[in-house]
Amino acid sequence: MKDFYNLADLQKGSVKKLRPPIRLGVLGHPVAHSLSPQMQNAALEKSDLEMRYARFEIAPSELRPALELLRELDFVGVNLTIPHKIAASEFVDDPDETARQVGAVNTIKIEEGKLRGFNTDGKGFSRAIREEFSVDLRDLRVLVIGAGGAARAIALQCAKENCERLVIANRDAEKAKRLGEELRAFFAGPRVLGPVARLQAIGCDEAALRFQVANTDLVVNATPLGLTRADPAPIPARLLAPHLMVYDTVYSSGPTAFVSSAIDAGARAANGLSMLLHQGALAFEIWFDRAAPIEVMRKALL
Ligand code: NAP
Repeated sequence: MKDFYNLADLQKGSVKKLRPPIRLGVLGHPVAHSLSPQMQNAALEKSDLEMRYARFEIAPSELRPALELLRELDFVGVNLTIPHKIAASEFVDDPDETARQVGAVNTIKIEEGKLRGFNTDGKGFSRAIREEFSVDLRDLRVLVIGAGGAARAIALQCAKENCERLVIANRDAEKAKRLGEELRAFFAGPRVLGPVARLQAIGCDEAALRFQVANTDLVVNATPLGLTRADPAPIPARLLAPHLMVYDTVYSSGPTAFVSSAIDAGARAANGLSMLLHQGALAFEIWFDRAAPIEVMRKALL
C-alpha cells in the first residue's frame, strides 16, 4: 500500500484490484499527516474484515468526482478532513440530523448506491472529555475557541448535552455570534449561574477572554493553531489557571504547545488524540453496524 493515493488512482480503479482491496479511506488536502489509517486498519484486521483503509490526497476541485467514483469502486465509506467537511455536506445524498445541524460531514457510508453523511466529531469529543477528565459536558462551563467545522460540532454537542454554560470565542466575532444564535434555543431553560449569561459569543481580545476564563471549567482549542511549531497559542498562556481543564483538538505525538502551557499553569490538559480515536470508532460503527475494537485502535495510535 502507498502512503497516499490520488484521484488518478481512483479513476484507474487500481485500489479495487489490491489484495485486500482498499474500500475505506480519508480524503483530505493535505492528508499525509492523518493517523486514521493506522487506527482503522488495526480495527479491520482485528475484526477479520478483508479490506484496507488508505489516505487520498484530493484537491477541493476533485472532491465531487472522487466521491462519485466511490460507488463504482465498492467503497464501504470514507472520512473527510480539512478542507472537505463543509463541501462534502453538499455532495452527499442523505445527511443525518447531526451532519445537517453542524453543516459538515466527516463520515460517509455508501449504502444502496447512496452517499449517507454523518458527523461523529461532536460525540467523539464528548467521549474524549469523559475519558480524559472523568466529567460529563452537562456539568461543565465550556469555552470553545473557534467557530469553524470542529467548533460547530463541539458547540452543538455541548448544547445538546445541556452544558452549564457555553462561550464561543472566535477571531471573527461575527461568526461566533452567528453560531451562538443558532444554538440559542438550547439554552432557554433555567440554570442558576448568578449574573453570568449561559450562552455568549465573543471575539478573541484578551480582556473579554480573561473574564470568560474566570467563569469557565473547560477551554477547548478548535482552531488549527498548534499544527505548526511557529503558531501562537489560541489564548495567551497567562490566562490559563489551575482550576481549568484544557482540551486541544490539535494532536501531535507529544503534548502540543497549548497543552504544555496549560500543564505549566497547573491545569489538567489533553490533546486531540482521544477525540480522533472516538470519532474514528464511531465511524467504524456506522460502516459496519458493530462495536469498534476500541482498545486495538487506541494502541495503534500510540
Ligand atoms: P475550519 O473550519 O477551517 O475552522 C478554523 C477555525 O479556526 C475558524 O474559527 C478560524 O477563525 C480559526 N482560525 C484559523 N486560523 C486562525 C488563526 N491563525 N488565529 C485564530 N483563529 C484561527 O477548521 P476545522 O475543521 O474547524 O478544524 C480546526 C482544527 O480542529 C483542525 O486543525 C484539527 O486539528 C482539529 N480537529 C481535530 C479533530 C480530532 O479528532 N482531534 C477533529 C476535527 C478537527 P475565523 O473564523 O476567524 O477564520
